[in-house]
Amino acid sequence: MNNATVGKHPCPECGGDLQWNAAKQALVCPYCGTVVPLSEAAQGDGDGSAGVVELDLLQALARMQADAATQPPPLPQDGKGPGGVLGMLQSMAATPPAQRGYGTQPREVQCQSCHAISVFVDGKVADRCEFCGSPQIIAHETLGDAITPQSVLPFRISDGQVRDAIRAWYGTRWFAPNRLKTAALTDTLKGMYLPYWTFDAHVAAQWTAEAGYHYYVTVSYRDSQGNTQTRQEQRTRWEPAAGSLQHFFDDELVPGTVGVHPALLQKIGQFPTTTDLKPYTPEFVRGWTVERYQVDLRQAAQRGQAQMQEQTRALCAEQVPGDTHRNLQVRADYSNRTFKHILVPVWLVSYTYGSRSFQVLGNGYTGQIAGERPYSAWKIFFAVVAALAVLLVVVYVLGMQQ
Ligand SMILES: [Zn+2]
Ligand SMILES: [Zn+2]
Repeated sequence: MNNATVGKHPCPECGGDLQWNAAKQALVCPYCGTVVPLSEAAQGDGDGSAGVVELDLLQALARMQADAATQPPPLPQDGKGPGGVLGMLQSMAATPPAQRGYGTQPREVQCQSCHAISVFVDGKVADRCEFCGSPQIIAHETLGDAITPQSVLPFRISDGQVRDAIRAWYGTRWFAPNRLKTAALTDTLKGMYLPYWTFDAHVAAQWTAEAGYHYYVTVSYRDSQGNTQTRQEQRTRWEPAAGSLQHFFDDELVPGTVGVHPALLQKIGQFPTTTDLKPYTPEFVRGWTVERYQVDLRQAAQRGQAQMQEQTRALCAEQVPGDTHRNLQVRADYSNRTFKHILVPVWLVSYTYGSRSFQVLGNGYTGQIAGERPYSAWKIFFAVVAALAVLLVVVYVLGMQQ
């Protein structure tokens, strides 16, 4: 079923390569304008989730391990060690060819300033880094062996919609420089697919703890006048407690991007990966920019595992009876661990102000906006001058009345 959705969907009219169009929510031929509904192109793929593939995590990690053992240690590169590009290379060597590459002759460039690697699938290569605006970009050797995204969340918010959202967002930013407005509303707006890893696992956990029950006692004391008074004091009674829980983690997300500032990613909200992913095909990313992941599977798996452990602990803590608890011990077994490499859509405005680079980010699926902004020194200066002027007039008028 998955194979039926992968591969080229040429335009039925002229044979051109179709591209995903966010406004039309369909594949569109950039040459003759023919619109092909996705369901037709994907040959009865249905709601899309049917073809989304999960891969076995432990197998993949073991393959990476075995591979690392049989190859000479990689030369350190970019100070990143084996976790960097070479580590990725190693890990990919064991991946079956069908799971590698982005589809059709991609070209890659790496920014010398922010280090983001952009992949252009059949598209025009930008002359500036689309993440930070730096002109210092160099061709990055197309490795053609990155783990293929298994699935993609296609753009749902069109550039017109996101411009409206950014305009509204800008309208609520006091003292933002006009430069931000210009950047936000002109062609510096870029649609990008960011790399994410998702992890699933089933957890069976057993916990023990001391459950605390509050109670109150009346104690007497002498006040400053020497009179005897009473007050209520809280005490806690501790009792041993134990329990167990079963939980399924579905799509713990770990970003693999270096191009977008992490604080912004947190603020643009969720991507509905458990329900709305589509199996990857090059049509979705053709004409858009794709960022190549630089957090490799091993690092991402560790981060995903830490996220799950934290949540498992919180779920256990909720089960402890009483008013409070201490000495919570959790023993957890994780099984059926799987992963996917996916792409999620964002709209990005990147601009420099002074010597710094600022980003405004929009969720390409929900339209939620988050941005960094400088404060315009001139706007603040004039606001302060205006406030002082008003103050002087008030003082003057009050002085005249006396
Ligand atoms: Zn066509
Ligand atoms: Zn850059």
